[in-house]
Amino acid sequence: MNKPTDAAAAHVTNFIRNVIDADLAGGKYASRTWGGRPGLAATHAGAPGDPAKIRTRFPPEPNGYLHFGHAKSICLNFGLARDYGGVCHMRFDDTNPEKEEQEYVDSILDAVRWLSYGWSANGTEHLYHASDYFDAMYRAAEYLVTSSNAYVDEQSAEEMRAARGTLTEHGQNSPWRDRPAAESLARLREMRAGKHADGSMVLRAKIDMTSPNINLRDPAIYRIKKATHHRSGDKWCIYPMYTYAHPIEDALEQITHSICTLEFADQRPFYDWLLERLAEGGLLAKPLPQQIEFARLNLSYVVLSKRKLVQLVDEGHVEGWDDPRLPTLAGARRRGYTPEGLRRFAERIGVSKSDSWIDYGVLEECMREHLNEVAPRRVAVLDPLKLIIDNYPEGAEEECLAPNHPQKPELGKRPLPFSRELWIEREDFMETPAKGYFRLYPPGVTPAGDPRPGNRVRLRHGFVIECAGCDKDASGNITAVRCNYFADSKSGTPGADTYKVKGNIHWVSARHACRCEVRLYDRLFRVPRPGAGERDFLLDLNPEAKKVISAQIEPALAHAPPEARFQFERHGYFVADRIDSKPGAPVFNRAVTLKDAWQK
Ligand code: ATP
Ligand code: MG
Repeated sequence: MNKPTDAAAAHVTNFIRNVIDADLAGGKYASRTWGGRPGLAATHAGAPGDPAKIRTRFPPEPNGYLHFGHAKSICLNFGLARDYGGVCHMRFDDTNPEKEEQEYVDSILDAVRWLSYGWSANGTEHLYHASDYFDAMYRAAEYLVTSSNAYVDEQSAEEMRAARGTLTEHGQNSPWRDRPAAESLARLREMRAGKHADGSMVLRAKIDMTSPNINLRDPAIYRIKKATHHRSGDKWCIYPMYTYAHPIEDALEQITHSICTLEFADQRPFYDWLLERLAEGGLLAKPLPQQIEFARLNLSYVVLSKRKLVQLVDEGHVEGWDDPRLPTLAGARRRGYTPEGLRRFAERIGVSKSDSWIDYGVLEECMREHLNEVAPRRVAVLDPLKLIIDNYPEGAEEECLAPNHPQKPELGKRPLPFSRELWIEREDFMETPAKGYFRLYPPGVTPAGDPRPGNRVRLRHGFVIECAGCDKDASGNITAVRCNYFADSKSGTPGADTYKVKGNIHWVSARHACRCEVRLYDRLFRVPRPGAGERDFLLDLNPEAKKVISAQIEPALAHAPPEARFQFERHGYFVADRIDSKPGAPVFNRAVTLKDAWQK
């Protein structure tokens, strides 16, 4: 059981928390009982009081991989349950027989666990499948028919559409609307027995064809679909519509606060109508669940539509559902994003009642903040150029000491082997220095014509060196930088402070370094709103979103375990790829750079 924590008080409050606070203060749920499992009223009648102060749920349809938008919903639902001493149910909304697959079920459970949420509470696994409620849903349908709240309509789909009306014109009653309940019941049973073809008739709620809310104009609640369901097999050939199934799922599970995105606001009157009818008939226990809508996450530079994500994967624009460029949780994990960073993001963006866009930079900043706290520092040279220290004895070597985390001395230091030949970044040398360039450049003349010496920099955690020149190949490409070092300038020794230099560059010893593959990931799209207007979103893909390079890394990184995360000094945060990294042959993915290069 999740205990209420001080966290509830510490959180920035929001309108959903206000609703829950008021409900709890007013004792709205004080009489609720919990029969130990989801069920109709009889399951909960006479059972002990519900140990969960509130019940929320996360109800994905298992027809795709979860993305950042789902993470917002997961953090909200599981987070509220945790903070209020409640329980959040993990529910697969698998009432549609055709689209669901086990692969998606597994990936969804993985993603929720990865975000560090669970569904076990009070000795019960609150992991549910909407398809387990087909019997209860059908019973509710028969009740609606016998109580004259539903009827079987035998119009064609075309006729029904024409009679539904528009936003400005009300609808027309179906000729089947007032048929005797017994006749509808007989038809419903025939539908269930497989006696009628797909689409030949539907069960409709009998509400009001003149309602200004089109969702109340006798919505369809059951349709015939001779399809095999991935869990219930061929037991059913009629399936409930989503808008009918969802409220019943909530009620059977004794959900108190059913949180969904804004586009369901127009469905709320039907949600309430349906549950009220079923409670009147004694099928459902009161108090009934209440639906609360919040604004979905819209995030710039990515797409969060399942249809578009499927297209990216199926057409090979990315390398699978866990491609680190994708905004899926599987991709985020592979990219080196952290669950803590995502939870921090969800907390920071909050919940509101109106749609808005969040800049991708906010998510990156949350990752940077968390990774800065936890990621040990390491050295990697991403674009290696040889540096030769002419006055360092050949064959000699020594150790330099580098702190594992500048803000956490308790994490200690590690040795960095130093020798005559090192790798440095190609951009840390300029043969003809640009104005304001403080790194390595050779001796030359100033613009005024005076001779000037080669520049001095500090090799981070090592010695101060002075540039002497460079070697070139036959075509004039720079193949090595030459320099001399000052033996008394080593970091951490008393002599170090007597050298004042402006530049500070990183390096690895060529003899000790490990060559490895590094994948530099960037934003998937080049523009904040991919596909805005009528534009094909694929045209906005960022061709630079993945670059594969061969880097030289310090020896301590060679055996990085999969999913170990590091800050590569001066570059950003990287993770050992969880699939392709092997001991001695690591592969690193860039999670995020040290600074936001996209900010205008
Ligand atoms: P579909 O188009 O298949 O319905 P969906 O994105 O709604 O896709 P579901 O599996 O139904 O996917 O979503 C599970 C839960 O996640 C729902 O409660 C939904 O409200 C929530 N959710 C989905 N997308 C977002 C989003 N962008 N922001 C916040 N919550 C979201
Ligand atoms: Mg949905």
